[in-house]
Amino acid sequence: MATAAPSEKSGKVVIRNIGLLLSGDIDQPILDADTIVINDGLIVAVGKLKDCDVAHARTVIDAHQTCVCPGLIDSHVHPVFGDWTPRQNQTGWIDSTMHGGVTSMISAGEVHLPGRPKDIVGLKALAITAQRAFDNFRPGGVKVIAGAPIIEKGMIEQDFKDLAAAGVTLLGEVGLGSVKAGYEAREMVQWARKYGIQSTIHTGGPSIPGSGLIDKDVVLEADADVIGHINGGHTALSEAHVCELCEKSSRAIEIVHNGNEKVAIAAAQAALQLKCPHRIILGTDGPAGSGVQPLGMLRMVALLSSLAGIPAELVFCFATGNTARIRNLNCGLIEVGRAADFVFMDTAQHSAARQLLDSVALGDIPGVGMVMIDGIVRCGRSRNTPPAAAIPEVLGAAI
Ligand SMILES: [Zn+2]
Repeated sequence: MATAAPSEKSGKVVIRNIGLLLSGDIDQPILDADTIVINDGLIVAVGKLKDCDVAHARTVIDAHQTCVCPGLIDSHVHPVFGDWTPRQNQTGWIDSTMHGGVTSMISAGEVHLPGRPKDIVGLKALAITAQRAFDNFRPGGVKVIAGAPIIEKGMIEQDFKDLAAAGVTLLGEVGLGSVKAGYEAREMVQWARKYGIQSTIHTGGPSIPGSGLIDKDVVLEADADVIGHINGGHTALSEAHVCELCEKSSRAIEIVHNGNEKVAIAAAQAALQLKCPHRIILGTDGPAGSGVQPLGMLRMVALLSSLAGIPAELVFCFATGNTARIRNLNCGLIEVGRAADFVFMDTAQHSAARQLLDSVALGDIPGVGMVMIDGIVRCGRSRNTPPAAAIPEVLGAAI
C-alpha cells in the first residue's frame, strides 16, 4: 500500500508545456498559462514559461499539452481507519480513488466502524482518534480530513467546545444518530458553528435499514452548513422539494454519485438558475452499499456536463475550487500559495471528441495521466481510468 508521510518535501518542481489549465475558480475556470512552479508543495508561480523562474528545479515535468486541473476533492466519504473499508471489506480504496484524480476527501462520519460508539464520551473519542489517524497517514498521499462525529441526544455545548479544542473541524452527517428533529439538530449545529466546526446534514430517505428520513423541513430548520447529498443517499426527496431547498437555503448544495442521478441534474440546474453555481460541490458518498467508486468524482463531472448541459470547465470547479472555498481547504485552486495538488488529464483514447472538455461534454470519462499531491508525483498513468491519449513525462528526478 503506497502511503506518504505528510512531512515529505517536494523541493522545486516545474510543470511546463501545459495544454489546458483549469483553475478551479468558477469565476475564471480556464487560465491563459502553460507553466506552474512549485516549491516544497506550494504553488509559487503560474504563467507563461518565459515569465517564470524555472532554474534549478529538482523535478521538471513536461505536461505534453495535457490538461492540468486542481486535484478533485470528494466532499462526502465514509472512511474508517487506514485504507480499509468494512462496508465492502476492501483495502486500498483510497489509493484507488487517487487513481481517479482525487487528492482530498472529506469525511461525513466514520459511521461504518464496527461497534461504533454512540455514547457521548465514546463518539468524541472516536472523532478525535480518526482526525489524528488520518492527519498522520495519507493512503496514496490523499489528504483525508476525518474525525466527523455523529451527534447524539444529550450532547451539550461543552461537548462541541471540547471537540473543537481537540482539533475536530467537522460534524458527520446530522440525522444518522439519534438527533433527527429539526429543532434539536439546529441547536447542536449552532453550537458546532460557534466553535468553528462545519456541519453536513443527511438529506432524503434512509440509507440503510435503521436510519431514517430527513425531509426538506428538517433540512431547512437544522440549517447545517452543507445540504449533504441533496440528491439522496440513495433515495432523493422530490425534485420540487430539492429545488425548494436550493432556493430557500443559502447553504452548500452537495451532489453525490451515490444518489439519484435525475435529481442530481435537477439540483445543479436549479442552482444555476438561481445564479449560485458557487454553492455546488460534489462527492461520492462512498464506500457504501453501492460500492467503492474510484472514478465516482470523474463520473459526476461527466454526468453533469453531458446530461445537465453544464460546460465541463464549470463542472470541474464544482469538484475543486468550490469545495475548497466552502470547506476552507488550501487546495482546489491554481493560485500562488495553494497546495500543489493536481490531476493531469487528456481525452480517453478513441473518444469521439478530440478535445478534453468536449469529450467530457459527450459523457466520456477523461484519462488520468498523472496525479500530484503537495508537489510530489503519486501516480503516472492511472490504472483505473480509460487510457489517456497523451500523458505527462517526468524529466530530471525520477518518480
Ligand atoms: Zn447520508
